[in-house]
Amino acid sequence: MKMKIVGSILSLIAIFSTTTPISATEGMWIPSMIKSLVSDDMAAMGMKISAEELYAINQSSVKDAVVHFNGGCTSVLVSDKGLLLTNHHCGYSRIQAHSSLENNYLKDGFWAANHDAELENPDMTATIIKEIRDVTSEILKDLPADATEVERAAMIKTQTEKIVAEATEGSHYSAYIRPFYYGNQFLLFINEEYKDIRLVGAPPSSIGKYGFDTDNWVWPRHTGDFSVFRIYADKDNKPAEYSEDNVPFKPNYHLPVSLDGVDENDFTLVYGFPGRTENYITGNNVEEVLEVINPLRLAMREASLGVIDKGMAGSELTKIQYAAKQSRISNAYKKWIGQSKGLIRHRAVAKKDSLENVFQDRVRDNEEWNEKYGSLLLEMSSLDVQLKPHNISRDYFIEFYYMGPEILRFSGGFNELVEMSKNKNVPDEEIEAWVKERLGKLGYFKNYDAQVDEDIMKAQIRHFLDGQPPLLFTIKLKDKKESLNEFVDRIYEETIFDDEAKLKDFLEGYKRNDYKKIEKDLAFAFSKRISDYYYDQTRPKMMNYVPTQDSLMRVWMSALMEVIPEKTYYPDANGTLRITFGKVEGYSPFDGADYLHYTTLEGVIAKEDPTNPEYNLPGKLKELYEEKDYGQYADESGEMRVCFIASNHTSGGNSGSPVFNDKGELIGLNFDRTWESTMSDIMFNPTICRNITVDIRYVLFIMDKFAGAGHLVEEMDLVKG
Ligand code: GLU
Repeated sequence: MKMKIVGSILSLIAIFSTTTPISATEGMWIPSMIKSLVSDDMAAMGMKISAEELYAINQSSVKDAVVHFNGGCTSVLVSDKGLLLTNHHCGYSRIQAHSSLENNYLKDGFWAANHDAELENPDMTATIIKEIRDVTSEILKDLPADATEVERAAMIKTQTEKIVAEATEGSHYSAYIRPFYYGNQFLLFINEEYKDIRLVGAPPSSIGKYGFDTDNWVWPRHTGDFSVFRIYADKDNKPAEYSEDNVPFKPNYHLPVSLDGVDENDFTLVYGFPGRTENYITGNNVEEVLEVINPLRLAMREASLGVIDKGMAGSELTKIQYAAKQSRISNAYKKWIGQSKGLIRHRAVAKKDSLENVFQDRVRDNEEWNEKYGSLLLEMSSLDVQLKPHNISRDYFIEFYYMGPEILRFSGGFNELVEMSKNKNVPDEEIEAWVKERLGKLGYFKNYDAQVDEDIMKAQIRHFLDGQPPLLFTIKLKDKKESLNEFVDRIYEETIFDDEAKLKDFLEGYKRNDYKKIEKDLAFAFSKRISDYYYDQTRPKMMNYVPTQDSLMRVWMSALMEVIPEKTYYPDANGTLRITFGKVEGYSPFDGADYLHYTTLEGVIAKEDPTNPEYNLPGKLKELYEEKDYGQYADESGEMRVCFIASNHTSGGNSGSPVFNDKGELIGLNFDRTWESTMSDIMFNPTICRNITVDIRYVLFIMDKFAGAGHLVEEMDLVKG
């Protein structure tokens, strides 16, 4: 399909900067653009520091202390020795990786007494953004007005490679370019990526994850969701792989930490890397999420969580092995439930529909718009109809292959060996090297329980196959009488991919022709059938629609800005650095109830339930509470505050984000949203959308008074008054 590029980029930028921002707190703003877009609004809400103090490239600024944590979460530098704070749930898989039955850091916490005791984390990154540059006109400068979507994509790719190469030439920086406003704008991010990140401290899960799944996404909340890492650099303060010779990184800027706490209506600013939002999708799209996508994901996860939770309740070892996996699965599971509730209760479909009606009415009344956009919404909804079965197929595939029984992905990884072995041009040495490398990765089994895995497959397989009707008929059941359960039994009886010893034996004696044995392995064969079906059938079909979808969304975005200019338009989250602003405020969750904006240690103690593992508490914390031994971390009335809520527009990826007060001092770490707020990934509602922050005073109190790690607090610049 050929779609004209509507309007010039310059006129769009003009729209971005003349749009009147709403006074509410919706929006995730690009730091390099806040000056022109929203700094007046932030100042009106109480911000006292300037846009330049938040983001600058020729001098140090707050942005230098905001660190992308392993590409998924956010973290913040709080000392001149590279000390990094993030959430407990962001450090969780690392804490888990260092845990064993003997040294159970998940359960008991971990505190390095000195630099030598800090723990190395292979393959981790911490990325600091050096500069954000608008490269829209460079990217699109040679694009003919009548270019097709395919030509456009090719041009973007070529220009991106060129600009990234130029921006990083002769330096140790890396760079990427991301589209904004659905491809109406392109920004270049130049980054410094650190690779030696060590674990410094973590509270026990009974503090860092207190309330576990029951409290996740819920307010009032009592979780001390933080962990502590440190960035190391080489002797020149440059990024380097792990080495004993590395030294603590000296950042350009680290944040002062406030002991003042917050009051209701105080200004709050969250600086971080929100992952993904879809605030401009249509009513039809929201309907699909509510009626099809969320229900199917929930059914798949309910099935696997039933198995994992039972396994973890029955064994300490399984509890350690599956802790991180369980959290990953249940976190999104619970989020989607809240999202659907919020979207339904706040009538998101009707609101989106009414916006589309306003759009359509205005377009109809304007000849020029009518010509450009008259059929836009119709084209979008016809595309939705065509895409829907493929979306369903894709989501079932993701839930089964990537989030379900691990044997599928694990055995699927051996396809590379099969292909290499079959290919006569691949020398034996290369195959030997591959096998050797794989033998070094058998640590995978440390966190694997074949029985749990088999039970997950049994619990999910029927749902999955129902979602992929043609695939069901191609599954080779032994004879027609074999049930799906028996089929799964057979997989795990026959396979070598669920047993470390068997697989090790097989790999150690591997000869080129043994690829046939892999091909015959039922787990491998099943995995391959599933992934081939997705990658050879579903995905290519979806890809055919991508150019049309891209162009429709791009035009929809710019058309909205043009036709309904009185609304504010911020770019959807895409894992890039953003600023959001808001204020400390409670909310009314339902008729007749009002929630306060903060919680206290008293509430932590009140929730304790020794019969429920989600609400166990360490004795030391109870002692500190009894003695009211809060030191300088108590509030003015002598209470220990734990968490607070505010109206910042945040998303996944904002986990671990620093929360600042009006003076740019650290007051907490963002870690969650209230349940119905999760609708904000699709539609922000200022009356109920609240982000949840752990009060920095609780973080410091736990480090200092609870864990005896006061030396870490001493590294920081504490400010009061
Ligand atoms: N707690 C959330 C998560 O783990 C992150 C923050 C959010 O989504 O608001 O995904």
